[in-house]
Amino acid sequence: MRDQAAGPRVLLKRLRELMAEALEPQERLDRIVREIAGNMVAEVCSLYVLRADAVLELYATEGLNPGSVHLAQLRLGQGLVGTIAASARPLNLSDAQLHPAFAYLPETGEEIYHSFLGVPVLRAGRTLGVLVVQNRTKRHYRDDELEALETTAMVIAEMIATGDLARLTRPGLELDLRRPASFSGLSFNEGVGLGHVVLHEPRIVVTNLFNEDTEEELRRLDEALGSLRLSIDDMLSRRDVAFEGEHRAVLEAYRMFANDRGWVRRLEEAVRNGLTAEAAVEKVQSDMRARMLHMTDPYMRERMSDFDDLANRLLRQLMGHGPEVLAAALPKDAVIVARSMGAAELLDYPRDKLRGLVLEDGAVTSHVVIVARAMGIPVAGQMKGAVSMAENGDAIIIDGDEGRIHLRPQPDVEAAYAEKVRFRARRQELYRELRNKPSKTKDGARVDLMMNAGLFVDLPQLAESGAAGIGLFRTELQFMVAATFPRAEAQEKLYRDVLDAAKGKPVTFRTIDIGGDKVLPYFKNSVNEENPALGWRAIRLTLDRPALLRTQIRALLKAAGGRELRVMLPMVTELGEIFQAREIIDREVRHLSRFAHDLPNILKLGAMIEVPALLFQLEELMRAVDFVSVGSNDLFQFVMATDRGNTQLSDRFDPLSVPFLRVLKQIVDAGKAMDTPVTLCGELAGKPISAMALVGLGYRSISMSPAAIGPVKAMLAELQLDRLEAFLTDALSRPDAGRNTREELAAFARENNIPI
Ligand code: PEP
Ligand code: MG
Repeated sequence: MRDQAAGPRVLLKRLRELMAEALEPQERLDRIVREIAGNMVAEVCSLYVLRADAVLELYATEGLNPGSVHLAQLRLGQGLVGTIAASARPLNLSDAQLHPAFAYLPETGEEIYHSFLGVPVLRAGRTLGVLVVQNRTKRHYRDDELEALETTAMVIAEMIATGDLARLTRPGLELDLRRPASFSGLSFNEGVGLGHVVLHEPRIVVTNLFNEDTEEELRRLDEALGSLRLSIDDMLSRRDVAFEGEHRAVLEAYRMFANDRGWVRRLEEAVRNGLTAEAAVEKVQSDMRARMLHMTDPYMRERMSDFDDLANRLLRQLMGHGPEVLAAALPKDAVIVARSMGAAELLDYPRDKLRGLVLEDGAVTSHVVIVARAMGIPVAGQMKGAVSMAENGDAIIIDGDEGRIHLRPQPDVEAAYAEKVRFRARRQELYRELRNKPSKTKDGARVDLMMNAGLFVDLPQLAESGAAGIGLFRTELQFMVAATFPRAEAQEKLYRDVLDAAKGKPVTFRTIDIGGDKVLPYFKNSVNEENPALGWRAIRLTLDRPALLRTQIRALLKAAGGRELRVMLPMVTELGEIFQAREIIDREVRHLSRFAHDLPNILKLGAMIEVPALLFQLEELMRAVDFVSVGSNDLFQFVMATDRGNTQLSDRFDPLSVPFLRVLKQIVDAGKAMDTPVTLCGELAGKPISAMALVGLGYRSISMSPAAIGPVKAMLAELQLDRLEAFLTDALSRPDAGRNTREELAAFARENNIPI
């Protein structure tokens, strides 16, 4: 039998030689098309390259009129070449002129050719151009010839991507690869960042394209596929909770794909045609991705990203790459672009080099987003298609406020954003100047501005923000970013580090508040809850799993030895829950003192006011605890019967409406009457306008995200408290109680020159 792959192999060998020769780019292209035409016994071989203005320009030809090079052009979708580029699929025609899309370009002189074979030039699923061969006779090209041309197109894609052809573009025109692109998605964390793309999973660039020994490459491919399958089976057989549910489904899809005969056959064929095993993986993946990109079925597109991940795993097997290569050359203004990523992976990047995070998937509640927020970097999510359009090192703007990104931005877009960033920087400078000033109203009333935290990465903010302490330390975050329950020692270490970093400033630790929207992948509720926000969560859960609470309490008591310890219970509904928790604490104190441990010198127990039932027993509640803190996020959702995460309702009800302000006033008044300290630690505290309202109601301690402290302090400095109090007393006592006071408060601020 004739070795059908001999032709392509010889061709690839010739191309390799041409790539290595010191040639001008045009000369190299001319020789490449001549070589392809000769090898494929074609009278014509032409290369069209896609420009940023969606035009395919003839860059080189053997056989057509040489004068038409850089002149002949077709729009994307126009003619056979435009159709191939738009669909990312090859066309194999014995009589091209009969095809409905055929468009005649007189300058090329192609009318005498009948048969036509054209393939897209693809890289990572993007079409960069079209490669065509033609013959006079009406012949149908064989499958192996198609395969050979596709393989050759890969080499050309590499030339385009490495910028080799950029010098051939006419002034004012650009290749499509460099085209600016904007994406809209969701805002996951505010802020604006200008920087350069760092692909979290860098496209593994296969530089070694041509194989020396086909049998050896086939063996390598087979071996890598074998270890890939084994590693998937291994993960599947582990009865690890982390691989339950979603994870398991994905792994099962991987296993199916890894055993897909069609996929394996295409890989082997590419190797037989002269590619290395890794180049074969890239080629097959690129073809597949290009085709799937045109599918609208979301299920199929999702499967595509599974296939991509699988191909990447296979490439890593072949190239022996670990993730360490990615950290190697991080620009100082990195914007990480990822399909999705784990929280721990983000923490591996040095904070001082991060300017933003772009995710194709993810949700505002995903762990990586929680961590990114703690790190204070802008995050834009649901940016479908961003990964395949971005190249490492591309300029990028991330607009976390609007949930938008601009890749390779035009100079005017860049200038507008640079101005925005400078403006923010000036404001930050102002806030920094306020950092060491006391937080007081204009008429001298002191208000403690505390910060919310939950992770180790938050701690530097304590000094940077000028916070008076940590009003809410969300201990569950450590649990949420971990792969398994953090051990007692890890908990104790974090708490000790927090207290050390606080240098004597007060810190309020909230016991683990999981359940509701805060799920731990390794700890599933066996009951499928219909209303998780009203379900088994927070103190309810930890009282049912006392070992969890005991371990945490013990870790807290040990970490706070010789210092003050403030512990706060989330989602308290009945006072009995406080008594039960206190019993657990007392038992732990007794246990530790029996073993002569250093105990906290002061221990204060508080409760969060998040459940409306507590509003009807405020006196008893305040007698039962040392302090209370209003969790306005949950309290608002329960008072208004409005899911805090439902974007459809997010603008419908306002915490600055009269009924909710009355609730908040009732709590702070009860605190005064009972001499129990009251704070508030929901998002409400961090917006200058609502912080102003809280101070007007009587709150003298509020806790917020560290970035909010500067703006709230600046607001306070201009606030004449007696005026505001009079204004609010009037607003809350007037009979039209359904009103929203937001507009009136904003007008009050404007009239009194208060920056909100
Ligand atoms: C709240 O509910 O207001 C609160 C501070 O707790 P979390 O946002 O963590 O539920
Ligand atoms: Mg809450």
